[in-house]
Amino acid sequence: MTSSAIDAKGKTLQKQAKRVTHADRVLSYLKEQHRPVSAYDILDGLRSDGVTASTTVYRALEKLLDDGRVHRIESLNAWTVCCGRHDHDTPVFAICDDCGNVTEHVVSEFTHSIANLSERTGFAPNHTVLEIHGRCSDCNTGVPAH
Ligand SMILES: [Zn+2]
Ligand SMILES: [Zn+2]
Repeated sequence: MTSSAIDAKGKTLQKQAKRVTHADRVLSYLKEQHRPVSAYDILDGLRSDGVTASTTVYRALEKLLDDGRVHRIESLNAWTVCCGRHDHDTPVFAICDDCGNVTEHVVSEFTHSIANLSERTGFAPNHTVLEIHGRCSDCNTGVPAH
């Protein structure tokens, strides 16, 4: 019967589409957050989805990091979703110490400066962290002026 063959094929396709990895779960959890979160927050948030070990979270984060989907905010020891594609450019993170808002900026001048420094000094960087702490424009304009 040709109809049963089609059914079987349809079922297989459905199964493949439904497969969600831990990395997918971690990424969608991070997307729901409006600020960087720690690995333990992720673990807490995903416990009901069957993620029960911190090693699972770290492995998923490492994979997402390799894929360029997330960033680690070193000074906060927290993780956030990448704003998009910026290939070889090093992103700069502006961290508001008042509201906790973190924005990712891609400023190619910074990348060039690091490349220049490397050329001048012979130092070979393999990991660059550019994080600025301060007050975001929302918090800055919130100062009572009237
Ligand atoms: Zn990014
Ligand atoms: Zn702020």
